[in-house]
Amino acid sequence: MHVPFLIIGGGLSGLAAALRFARFLPDVLLLEKHSRVGGLNSYYYRNNRLFETGLHAITNYAPAEIKNAPLNRLLRQLKIKRRELDLHQQIGSEVRFMGRESLLFSNDFGLLDTEIASKFPGSYNRWQHLLQLIEEYDPFRPAPFLSAKKVLRETLADNLLTDMLLCPLMYYGSSLENDMDLGQFVIMFRAIFLEGMFRPGGTIKDILDLLLSHYQAHGGKIRTKAAVSRIISSGKRVQGVVLTSGEEISCDYLLSTIGSEETFALLHKPCPLESLPRLGFVETIFELRPETSLPRSENRTIIFYNTTATFSYQQPQTLVDFNSGVICLPQNFQDLSPSPFKEVRTTHLASYEQWHTLGDGQSAYNSAKEDTALASREVAEKILGNFAENIVYRDTFTPLTIERFTAKKQGAIYGNPVKIKDGDIGYNNLFLAGTDQGFLGIVGAMLSGVSIVNQHILPRL
Ligand SMILES: Cc1cc2nc3c(=O)[nH]c(=O)nc-3n(C[C@H](O)[C@H](O)[C@H](O)COP(=O)(O)OP(=O)(O)OC[C@H]3O[C@@H](n4cnc5c(N)ncnc54)[C@H](O)[C@@H]3O)c2cc1C
Repeated sequence: MHVPFLIIGGGLSGLAAALRFARFLPDVLLLEKHSRVGGLNSYYYRNNRLFETGLHAITNYAPAEIKNAPLNRLLRQLKIKRRELDLHQQIGSEVRFMGRESLLFSNDFGLLDTEIASKFPGSYNRWQHLLQLIEEYDPFRPAPFLSAKKVLRETLADNLLTDMLLCPLMYYGSSLENDMDLGQFVIMFRAIFLEGMFRPGGTIKDILDLLLSHYQAHGGKIRTKAAVSRIISSGKRVQGVVLTSGEEISCDYLLSTIGSEETFALLHKPCPLESLPRLGFVETIFELRPETSLPRSENRTIIFYNTTATFSYQQPQTLVDFNSGVICLPQNFQDLSPSPFKEVRTTHLASYEQWHTLGDGQSAYNSAKEDTALASREVAEKILGNFAENIVYRDTFTPLTIERFTAKKQGAIYGNPVKIKDGDIGYNNLFLAGTDQGFLGIVGAMLSGVSIVNQHILPRL
């Protein structure tokens, strides 16, 4: 079998890349190893109900009239109408450093500005300088690594405010321990604080189905349960792929969205990138009776919390670091239809190595998952109020779960800390998109797929 353009991976970057290409030519085939698309942001069924694997909130909210906003540019590139997405904005979120300070923010940037003026009055002028720097900085211009933490500490001269601003941006978009590149910081600051967060009225399945239906309407093809086991190459050219079934598919151009090291493994080549620690996470979903009241934080959408003197964002020495994390209440978006359930989702940093030593599926591993859910619930209850007696279903994903379902090395959601921003991994007709290209999150992954097709594939046709 021969196809002009072949894509490995049906996550959001692969789907967006496939749809972008199919708008011009239908000669594209998407290969996904799993039985359904979505990758890190997919869904599964339990108790006759659909659970989303990854969705807390989608960043980069923008009203329709801001034509140049990343979300609107993305929708135009994919020819998707805003109303097809049914966008619901967050109610409001919080960065809470327990016993120290709290900052509220929403899709109205004025709220964060007012919070900083009242809670960090001595730093307000410096905060304005930071905003100016963010406005003027071009994060897409190639530049060597610049520590965002250093720039923030120097600009704000306040370590608490620095940590409170970095906490949500790191949790939602840093693959690097305890720091971010300034460019990535600017991208995430704009995505979360200046633009804001939203979710679809339905579920992630609606977005995935929408992308698939547009793609297939243009004539694009997809094969699920089609895992690539090898990329056939000679010198700087790729000829095609071999599936685990033994089938060979040749192509003119190949796009891999599965990660840089994972792609080199399929090429049977050593990965030339520096090896840095990858960040693992545990996520627990608590499904609650709909009448459950969470009196302490009823109207929050997302709470980024920290309990220690200095915020630490690194691979823990233990299974899980409960000192900080994210608590998401997915029903708290504006004007959502009433749901027959309530959900609390928690995220914490976790060590892949520690989970790995327990052995996936073994009894020690299963009881560590139980302990994790319990400890995570206790942290969340301190912030939200008690909900234990109202839990009707609970599930915990570890880095091993994520690795098993998406083949992401070490289950590291944000992939390799070393990013390949131009998608060029040294081959004439093989390019990289997705997490390891450097755009993170749902909108980021989709923008990555679209931009690599625009930059490397379409101009060569
Ligand atoms: C628990 C969790 C919570 C999250 N919360 C949010 C959130 O609230 N908001 C947000 O914006 N983002 C969130 N994210 C991150 C977001 O999901 C990802 O950044 C984004 O989906 C990455 O997309 P991708 O296409 O780059 O990679 P992936 O989703 O990893 O896609 C790669 C695809 O390739 C497939 N694949 C791998 N190997 C092969 C092979 N050999 N052959 C064929 N196919 C293969 C995989 O099965 C997968 O489908 C979350 C992620 C997780 C796990």
